[in-house]
Amino acid sequence: MTNETKRVAFVTGGAQGIGKAICERLANDGLKIAVADFNLEAAKEVAEEIKNQGGEAIAVKVDVSDRDAVFAAVDTTVKELGGFDVIVNNAGLGPQTPLEDITYETYRKVYDVNVGGTYWGIQAAIKAFKELGHGGKIINASSQAGQVGNPGLAVYGGTKFAIRGITQTAAKDLAPLGITVNAYCPGIVKTPMMNGIAQQTADEAGKSFEWGMEQFAQNIALKRLSEPEDVAACVSYLASHDSDYMTGQALIIDGGMVFN
Ligand code: NAD
Repeated sequence: MTNETKRVAFVTGGAQGIGKAICERLANDGLKIAVADFNLEAAKEVAEEIKNQGGEAIAVKVDVSDRDAVFAAVDTTVKELGGFDVIVNNAGLGPQTPLEDITYETYRKVYDVNVGGTYWGIQAAIKAFKELGHGGKIINASSQAGQVGNPGLAVYGGTKFAIRGITQTAAKDLAPLGITVNAYCPGIVKTPMMNGIAQQTADEAGKSFEWGMEQFAQNIALKRLSEPEDVAACVSYLASHDSDYMTGQALIIDGGMVFN
């Protein structure tokens, strides 16, 4: 594949965890990557790693809850990488929020990043696709917690259910433009976000971090926690032309937790 025909993917929250694995996987698939993250230093490291492996990548600083910043980051990507074909709205916050402790600030912050970031990413991608005169692929991060209610996650779960709804609506609205919109629903993935949730669960029970992680593995049919690469493989499919006839779907990649 020549550089001219390489497609471009913009991945939010690409500096660590699932987003980092998605950046690496899509680079291996032959796409040029914009590693878009709040944490520019870590994003630069991921971009450097991709370049060291022979891929093409840039790091872009973005706060996905800031609409103008998302549009600017997508514009930068089009200019620097010479195209725009795939957006992965992956950045998200996942705090535990016992129902009675939910504050206005927590609710606003998590919705602004998880749901707002998805709206702004979708809008910025539509603008870029229209300007470039072609369709594209929009891929959103939902969760198994966006399929069923999880204890203690009323705010996070609400955002992830919302993202599935937005994905379905956007799929119908954007089909005439040749844009497909799908979501991925990971289970329990070994990332800094999940480590934080497991540590909090362990602390509350006065147990070890390992115990905290095990509590989440119990309900997985395949009896292991997910690696970020398991999720990246699912996103690779959604970003590829193999999924061209799929839209509005939320693929569950959770080792067998939720069965629909
Ligand atoms: P993580 O916390 O390990 O990494 C998130 C990344 O997003 C970080 O690099 C962070 O800097 C960046 N980020 C956070 N807020 C941002 C903002 N406002 N603007 C730009 N970047 C921002 O998270 P993760 O576990 O890799 O999760 C990635 C996505 O997958 C999230 O949407 C999460 O809800 C979803 N998910 C994760 C799990 C899991 O078990 N880890 C399960 C289901 C769904």
